[in-house]
Amino acid sequence: MMNRFLSAEAARLAPYTPGEQPLDAQYVKLNTNESPFPPSPRVVKALSRAEVLKLNLYSDPACGQLNGAIAARYGLQPANVISGNGSDEILAFAFRAFCGLGKGVAYADITYGFYKSQAALFGLEATVVSLREDLTLHVDDYMDFPGTVVIANPNAPTGIAIPREDIQRLLEADPNRVVIVDEAYVDFGAESCVPMIFRYDNLLVTQTMSKSRQLAGGRLGFALGSEALIAALNRVKYSFNPYNVNRLSIIAGAAAMEDQAYFETCCNAIRGNRAWLTGELEQLGFTVLPSSANFVFARHDQISGGELYQKLKQNGVLVRWWADSGRICDYVRITVGSMEQLGVLVDELQRLLDEL
Ligand SMILES: *Cc1c(COP(=O)(O)O)cnc(C)c1O
Repeated sequence: MMNRFLSAEAARLAPYTPGEQPLDAQYVKLNTNESPFPPSPRVVKALSRAEVLKLNLYSDPACGQLNGAIAARYGLQPANVISGNGSDEILAFAFRAFCGLGKGVAYADITYGFYKSQAALFGLEATVVSLREDLTLHVDDYMDFPGTVVIANPNAPTGIAIPREDIQRLLEADPNRVVIVDEAYVDFGAESCVPMIFRYDNLLVTQTMSKSRQLAGGRLGFALGSEALIAALNRVKYSFNPYNVNRLSIIAGAAAMEDQAYFETCCNAIRGNRAWLTGELEQLGFTVLPSSANFVFARHDQISGGELYQKLKQNGVLVRWWADSGRICDYVRITVGSMEQLGVLVDELQRLLDEL
């Protein structure tokens, strides 16, 4: 099995398995938490022929236009912002910048799978902290950890959020420890830590344009934090890929950031759809965790997670399921799509449960 060309370091990696991305449109796709809506009309307009004709030139390594738009939106300075090729890249910069020999990283046992992949990539000592019995995260469980702490808030795939005050306690417990708060889903109803950036120079917030700004295919993420933290991330970026965001994505991201009205309309629609979906699932006998994200995490007493996933797929609906995942193996994660998509899902579930 093992490839003879691999370095010892590469042999120890733990590559992330992305959700299925079928190339045809045969599925109702509710498995990777994309937005069901198209990008803002302003994005479409900004991606002009004139801009395409400039693709012979490198992109701005400082991402000035994009970082400026992000800074303006959050009341920060451009020096408090770094953009990346998806927030996965930003997380990689952060893991490299703040962790290393004798400086480990801690994250939850049930959370975004990429933290494990990146810890392995950089050869970091990882401390895995169990969520509580009810799948909630308690910051008290991280208080004494001496290295970098990474918390997804809301957490994935549970969708459960913690209050900003909890993160604040963690930041205050050790001002020399970096706390990374991954706010990939924050726009769907959790409390953002961004307003605390001025008070805590050890707080790094990462966000993405993949979920709430309908640009998953544009690959855009960013981090917000103190000048010192952002400078550390830039040090890694300029050691890895100075032109990390391409010309068209810089333009698309800036336009998306500037269209606050469209952003709010889309987020509100998802929240409404989430409430409807949660009600329907509960009516069908599902247990649904309280979600602050654009997905719900649900299970049913009469059918296993694997069977749910398989049967839905056979009937044209893709959801996410994690095999061999211990206490979450009977849950499926369902992206909150359009009402049309969710209608198909609920009809399929109804049929499937009737057949049991
Ligand atoms: C989707 C996601 C990301 C990263 O998304 P990008 O598309 O790389 O920006 C980061 N963290 C969590 C928890 C996510 O779900």
